Amino acid sequence: MITTEPAKLTHNEVIKDAIPTLAGNIAATMASGTDQFSADDQQFTKFHGIYQQDDRDLRKTQKKFIMMIRGRIPGGIMTPAQWLTFDDLASTYGNNTLRITTRQSIQFHGVVMAGLGPLIKKINDCLLSTLAACGDVNRNITASPTPAQTTARVAMMADVHRVVAALAPQTKSYHAIWLDGVQLNLDDPANKDFVDPLYGKTYLPRKFKASFVLPPNNDMDVFTNDLGFIAIVEKGQLVGYNLAVGGGMGRTHGNVTTYPRLADVIGFFKPQHIVDIAKAVLTVHRDFGDRTDRKHARLKYVVAERGVDFVRSEIEQRVGFKLEPARAYQFTTTNDAYGWHKAVDGTNFLTLFVETGRIKDTDKARQKTALRRIAEQFGNIEFRLTANQNVLLANVSDADQPAINALLTEHGVRTENQASLLHGNSMACPALPTCGLALAESERMLPGLVDRIEKLCSDLGLGTEEIVIRSTGCPNGCARPYTAEIGFVGKAPGRYQLWLGGNASGTRLNKLFKEVIKEAELETELRPLFARFATERMPSERFGDWCDRAVLKEQPTAAN
Ligand code: SF4
Repeated sequence: MITTEPAKLTHNEVIKDAIPTLAGNIAATMASGTDQFSADDQQFTKFHGIYQQDDRDLRKTQKKFIMMIRGRIPGGIMTPAQWLTFDDLASTYGNNTLRITTRQSIQFHGVVMAGLGPLIKKINDCLLSTLAACGDVNRNITASPTPAQTTARVAMMADVHRVVAALAPQTKSYHAIWLDGVQLNLDDPANKDFVDPLYGKTYLPRKFKASFVLPPNNDMDVFTNDLGFIAIVEKGQLVGYNLAVGGGMGRTHGNVTTYPRLADVIGFFKPQHIVDIAKAVLTVHRDFGDRTDRKHARLKYVVAERGVDFVRSEIEQRVGFKLEPARAYQFTTTNDAYGWHKAVDGTNFLTLFVETGRIKDTDKARQKTALRRIAEQFGNIEFRLTANQNVLLANVSDADQPAINALLTEHGVRTENQASLLHGNSMACPALPTCGLALAESERMLPGLVDRIEKLCSDLGLGTEEIVIRSTGCPNGCARPYTAEIGFVGKAPGRYQLWLGGNASGTRLNKLFKEVIKEAELETELRPLFARFATERMPSERFGDWCDRAVLKEQPTAAN
C-alpha cells in the first residue's frame, strides 16, 4: 500500500505552535545588550511591528544591524499630537525621515536595538501601536482618506474601527515586552497553552490585508487586498458593502505557482454584519491557507484553487446568512487629489505630494519641518496618510487655510503644481539599502527614472500624458507594481522586469512584457513603445489601455 506523508509544516508554523504568545525571547535579548535577535525571534518581532535589517550599503565593510519599525495606524489617521510624536521619534531614534507606507502607515528606518524599547513605548503612549503591523495576522487596515465625496465616509470609518478591534490579536506579550519591559515566562501554562480566540494557536499561514474603499475613487487599490470592502452609498447613506476576496501582489521570480491576483467581488451585505464577515474571511484563510509553503500561503491561492463558490459558501456558513448579489459601483482612478479641495462638510483639505513616501528636509523643500510646524500650530486638523504614500491635511477651516499656505511656502513646500503628472502618479517601495529582500534599487532609483521617462514622452509629443509608474526592488510587490501602467520589478542590480498594461482605476493586472531590461537602457526599451503609442492610440486612450489592447495581445507573455 502506498502511503503519502503529509507535507511538512514550515518552520514558522513550528515556532508559532511552540510559543503561541509570540513573546519569543525578545525582552531577554534586548536586556542582554546584544545588537541583534536570533533567527526565530526575527519572526516573532514581525508580529510586534519590527523587521531586523542591516545597512546594505555597509554590508561589504561592516555589518550593522538596524531595525525597521512600522506603526499600526488604522485608516492612516493621526492627530497633530501623534504626528509630533512620530516626528520626534524619527529624529531621535530613526534616520530623521518619516517613511509613509503603501498601507497608510509610517515606518522608521535605521533604529538600533537600544532605541526599540523607548520608540515603541512612546508610540503606545500616544495611543497608536505597532502590534500586528507585520506578521501572520491582519495588518494595518486601510481606508479611503479623502473627505471630498460623501459624508457616508464617517459611517464607513466607524466600521473600520470595529473591524480593527475585532481582528486584533489578543496576546499579552506585546504589553509585557513593550510597556512593562518584562520577558514572559514561557513555561507558565497560561502562556505555553495560550490560544488566541480568533487566530487559534498558530495564527494565519501568512499575512492578511484588508481595506475599505469609497467609489468612485479606488485610492486604496482595493483589489490588491485579501479582503476588500467596497462601500455602497445610496441617497447619501452607507447601505452596505460589496465584498471582495483573494487579492494579493507578491510572487517569486521563476516560480510559476506564485502570481499577483486581483480580488473577486463575491456579493453584498449590510453594515451590521461587517465584523462577522471580516472574521469569516479571515478564518477561511486561517483554515485553508497553505501552511507548508509560505510562498503559496496567501488567501489568494485558496480562492484561485478552490474557487469563488467554495469560498463564498464557507463565508456564508460561518456568518449564517447568504450574501446578496453585488451592487453596482464604478471606479475611476487610483490616484490622490493633490492640492486644496472642499470637503463635503464645508471644511477644506490639502493633499501634499510626498516623493516616494519619504518625508524629509532637503535643500529645496523642508517638508518634514513644515508638517511639524503645522502639527504644532493647528491642533484641530487631522493628518491622514494615503495609500499612495502622500499626506492629506483634513478638517482645515477657511480661517486656517491662508496661514497653512504661508507656512508651507516659507518651507519651500508647494500646494499647487506640486508634482508633474508622472511623478504624481509614481510609487516606489523602500528596497535598498534597508530591505533585506531587495534585489535592486527602487526608492533611490525611481525619481530619476521618472525624469527620464518624462523627457522621452516630451520628445515624442506625449508630455501631457498621465501614466501610473511603480517600482519595487523585488517581486514581493510592496508598491503594487502589478496594477501599474508601467511596473519595474527588480531582478538584480540595475536590472528590472518590465510589466505593462494596468489601468487608471486599478481594476486590471498588467502583464510581464520583458523578462529583463537594463536601467541604463531604459530609453532604448521604451522609445519604440511610446512612438507607436503616439501614432496608434485611440482618442484619449491611456498608455496602459493601449498596451493591453495593442501590445500585450500580440505577443506571448511569460507566465511569471
Ligand atoms: Fe523589500 Fe521587495 Fe517589499 Fe521592495 S517589494 S520593500 S524590495 S520586500
